[in-house]
Amino acid sequence: MDLKSFERLIKQENPARLYLVKSCWKNYRRFCIKCRGYKIYRIAGKRYRCKRCGYTFHDFTGRWINELHITPKQWLWVIKLFEVELSAKKISEQIKLSYPTVLKAVNIIRLAIVANSPNSDNLLKGEVELDESYFGGRRKGNRGRGAFNKVPVFGILERNGIVKVEVVKNVKAETLLNLTVQTVRRGSIVYTDKFKSYDSLMFCGYRHLKIDHKKKFSSGKVYINGVEGFWSYAKERLIKHHGVSKERFPLYLKEMEFRYNNRGKSLFNLLVNYLTNLVPDLL
Ligand SMILES: [Zn+2]
Repeated sequence: MDLKSFERLIKQENPARLYLVKSCWKNYRRFCIKCRGYKIYRIAGKRYRCKRCGYTFHDFTGRWINELHITPKQWLWVIKLFEVELSAKKISEQIKLSYPTVLKAVNIIRLAIVANSPNSDNLLKGEVELDESYFGGRRKGNRGRGAFNKVPVFGILERNGIVKVEVVKNVKAETLLNLTVQTVRRGSIVYTDKFKSYDSLMFCGYRHLKIDHKKKFSSGKVYINGVEGFWSYAKERLIKHHGVSKERFPLYLKEMEFRYNNRGKSLFNLLVNYLTNLVPDLL
């Protein structure tokens, strides 16, 4: 959504509310969120009642919009400022909402990103780069594999396609191979560095080509610059959040995956869709 349309939307509370109603109910076709029945009737106070199960609800019952005591206009502001990568602290300053409230709001957005992240139905294929990296940890030095207090992450990138990243408990061969088999179609060409955990890839139905970083960074098409580009992209962006807790880190990592995979797209519309797809019991 461009700034002009956004401006129209947040001028008053009503257009903001209508926009969210429209995104929650495709073609304004409301249904019972409990039994999914379409036979409902309107009662007082802008509420609806289900003919089948008697459940009473209003437009935003069970939706993300109802999770916090903020108005539709404020929600749209949070989503817009999240899109342009403002930190929760900056968002709270800009729209005069408390920091804990904004933090809850942006974490609901991150939850929606995780819930809508590319699933394993579509395997990556063709030429695929694999690599692991370490995130976080305050201690300097001690870098690289086996680094103390850092979170290992495994990344898989399809050239000219998307990247998929996952926090892993370790970088042993079994862990990385399992994830590769779940994510990459057999018969694909996989590129890695010379880390020994990748040695058995050729026995898993892949054509495996390795680059030796000690000697050179690429040799013809044998390189992993794509996935390494993602590591820099993600690490650079995570700096502004000033130390993300280990528990929350997977959410932030998936946000980076989402931003990287949707570069150049309107994230605002995508985010509203993702939030709307959140089923009530996920909240
Ligand atoms: Zn019902």
